[in-house]
Amino acid sequence: MSKIKENNPEYFTDWKYAPSPESKDHIRLQNRYELFINGKFVKPNSKKYFDTINPATEEKIAEIAEANEKDVDLAVTAAKNAYDKVWKKMPGKERAKYIYRIARMIQEKARELAVIETMDGGKAIRESRDIDVPLAANHFFYYAGWADKLEYAFPNRKPQSLGVAGQIIPWNFPLLMAAWKIAPALATGNTVVLKPAETTSLTALKLAEIIQESGLPEGVVNIVTGFGNTGAAIVNHANVNKVAFTGSTDVGKIIQKAIAGTNKKLTLELGGKAANIVFEDAPLDQAVEGIINGIFFNQGHVCCAGSRLLVQEGVAEILIRKLKDRMETLIVGDPLDKNTDIGAINSKEQLSKINEYIKIGTNEGAEIFQPSCSLPKKGFFCKPTLFLNTSQSHRVVQEEIFGPVLAVQTFRTVEEAIEKANNIPFGLSAGIWTDKGSKIFNMTSKMRAGVVWANTYNKFDPTSPFGGYKESGFGREGGLHGLAAYLNF
Ligand code: ADP
Repeated sequence: MSKIKENNPEYFTDWKYAPSPESKDHIRLQNRYELFINGKFVKPNSKKYFDTINPATEEKIAEIAEANEKDVDLAVTAAKNAYDKVWKKMPGKERAKYIYRIARMIQEKARELAVIETMDGGKAIRESRDIDVPLAANHFFYYAGWADKLEYAFPNRKPQSLGVAGQIIPWNFPLLMAAWKIAPALATGNTVVLKPAETTSLTALKLAEIIQESGLPEGVVNIVTGFGNTGAAIVNHANVNKVAFTGSTDVGKIIQKAIAGTNKKLTLELGGKAANIVFEDAPLDQAVEGIINGIFFNQGHVCCAGSRLLVQEGVAEILIRKLKDRMETLIVGDPLDKNTDIGAINSKEQLSKINEYIKIGTNEGAEIFQPSCSLPKKGFFCKPTLFLNTSQSHRVVQEEIFGPVLAVQTFRTVEEAIEKANNIPFGLSAGIWTDKGSKIFNMTSKMRAGVVWANTYNKFDPTSPFGGYKESGFGREGGLHGLAAYLNF
């Protein structure tokens, strides 16, 4: 209690860190990036390029090729040829060696990849260095292990690859999402055309360099950059056999309509509005860390962000006080600084969307709290924000904001917590904080959420499946389930 700010106003005033920026000297970037098709970097037929900028400085980093339908056709054709002539015939044991090699090369280039991820996307270097890049390597390692064991993974079921996988990913975990998609596709004997998000193409293109250097047969992985039209061209291409999409629910619905009536397989990982549920018997300090980790680190740019907090009435006051105090200590600023907790918002458009929601929450009558930190003058930054006294019908409770905004509600009984947690259009993830294992099991069996963390939050592992209910999509990525999504039986 003595550490609580109200009782000790001096407590936080000395918490100043010296700047500790990660060096950019070691990274290799080109001024212009082409499309990666059939093992080579090629100019786009569109002849068009777009800028990718650093959202923390608003400076241009590089130009990225914009793929049109013709480019996508070349990529899909390369993937189909590679599938028919090489990849589907290659024994799993041989495929595994390439996948393993890619994993090792990601590890070797981890520092460079982390810095580029942070420069291009705005996330704190601590996050890209400790989470994105190691997990990306781990996904390749994990799926390399399965490539020659598919008959054991699915006994008596004769697993068969699908063909060309069209994969479209968002900007929140650019390299990691590419790894989530590419690694299981290759392990199961499929070839790939992947499109990264338009604001964060760089690490996917660095991955293309790694793939080229790894000696993976030409055309097995193709990476095309561009906007929604490029993504749509992949989805609609007749020779694409499987579509794997991670992104907004709106685009997910468009994709689902587009492929209805075709025999393309589909997995959709869409939005979320996860609740962290804190019971009276929970370890409150750990819960505070879990809540902060769930919504504020990574700027709330996570589909499974814990963007709602449901706290049991008896501990609501103390928990909210602890949460506010912890928010005062969060460092918002230069994403390349190793002390930064909250980096830049990914784009100007996303920042205005978040600011719009902050206005909506205030107009709905919720009580707003933001810490007293100042924001850098340049770049797209947002203060971590709490909305207190919200009710279930508030838009800040129902809708995905994808920013560092946490809506807080209270509850009295287990039933009320379940009711409130489930009463939203999404069902991707949730967190439960309690001392009682039985309460956890009771809750998890009644919650409509694909992933439920207990006394922790946002923990990922390649072995565990991830995916949602309701408007959060369907299909699972990760683990054995992630293999099944790329196979016919
Ligand atoms: P977010 O809100 O996370 O940016 P989007 O759903 O807009 O999510 O974008 C996710 C990915 O989907 C990006 O790579 C984007 O370019 C792509 N995309 C956008 N519109 C379409 C579309 N109509 N068809 C296919 N892909 C699309």
